[in-house]
Amino acid sequence: MMCKIETKVLSVASAKAPFEKTTMERRELRPHDVLIEIQYSGICHSDIHSAHGEWGGGMFPMVPGHEIAGVVAAVGAEVTKFAVGDRVGVGCFVDSCGECEYCLSGEEQYCTKGVVSTYNSLDYDGNPTYGGYSQKIVVTEGFVVRIPDGLPMDAASPLLCAGITTFSPLKHWKAGPGKKVAIVGMGGLGHLAIQFAHALGAEVTVLSRSLDKQAEALSFGADQYFATSDKETFKSLAGRFDLILNTVSANLPVDAYLSLLRVDGTLVNVGAPSERDQYHVFSLIMGRRSIAGSLVGGIRETQEMLDFAAEHGIVPQIEVISADQVDEAYERVLKSDVRYRFVIDISTL
Ligand code: NAP
Ligand code: ZN
Repeated sequence: MMCKIETKVLSVASAKAPFEKTTMERRELRPHDVLIEIQYSGICHSDIHSAHGEWGGGMFPMVPGHEIAGVVAAVGAEVTKFAVGDRVGVGCFVDSCGECEYCLSGEEQYCTKGVVSTYNSLDYDGNPTYGGYSQKIVVTEGFVVRIPDGLPMDAASPLLCAGITTFSPLKHWKAGPGKKVAIVGMGGLGHLAIQFAHALGAEVTVLSRSLDKQAEALSFGADQYFATSDKETFKSLAGRFDLILNTVSANLPVDAYLSLLRVDGTLVNVGAPSERDQYHVFSLIMGRRSIAGSLVGGIRETQEMLDFAAEHGIVPQIEVISADQVDEAYERVLKSDVRYRFVIDISTL
């Protein structure tokens, strides 16, 4: 019988507090559990919303991190999917009821009992969950995915949230040949959305605040690029898109973006600002348009996304940092001063 497993972590004691290096215990392995030695952990803007208490209900101390890439270090007695040494990933959630219609259809993120998030959540035994800014994590095998050999471990980590969060809605709303897709915001999510939409065969337009990222957007596969700070952009692109994927972490003037949709077009929000959006209902009525939202993606689709990324050479562009640079990295993400995802090298913890 194994004992509880001690791990170093980076945690915040309260909303907006600086990160501290400390230790905590992971649960001892249950029959279907996998112990993962984490190598890299991406910094998602959701970590910042959560660690800053912006979404309400923050549980502290908090260990953020849901873009986890590591290697299996031990397996429970009944684990069949993984063996010691496997390259694996964990994304935004670590358990779900497994019985509701959404779990059964592979969309665990919409579990009716409530999905257990990787951090800032309570598991079904009532224990708080702690995320990937740590050396070790214990996760039941059904919520662990395989990182294909073709993907480097550091660059694979952001795929576990930023990748699946953009891949899933692009697939759901059928981004593909003949479809005009706009990606709004070119950050961690946005720069992957460009690559996925392009690989799926859509015509891809990037809408970013300035022209600063134009050359890189085109290198990621964008066909066109416009600055939203230029009012002409909204005139020249009126009625253009089948699908707009909004990855922006702040509120946008929704009516202006709805005006860029064709009849029957959809504005899908994955960006998750804490304040309410506002729009005029006539912006929908006059073009039979829709506003939608999407939450990450299920485990099966996450594996499909990783395999698709490996096959199409889709890799996040990252800046690897050490564990003592995370506070500074948060500040830089808030200034959009990152190209395009910070990834913590967990060996520095
Ligand atoms: P990020 O790297 O900070 O990128 C956000 C981008 O939004 C920035 O690069 C910037 O793009 C644009 N932006 C930022 N502030 C803006 C402002 N005030 N006005 C207009 N544009 C602005 O963040 P991320 O990690 O990609 O996450 C983006 C959002 O998605 C966050 O709210 C996050 O919580 C959310 N999220 C949701 C899900 C989900 O399941 N739905 C999953 C993961 C993340 P430009 O410089 O190109 O304009
Ligand atoms: Zn995330």
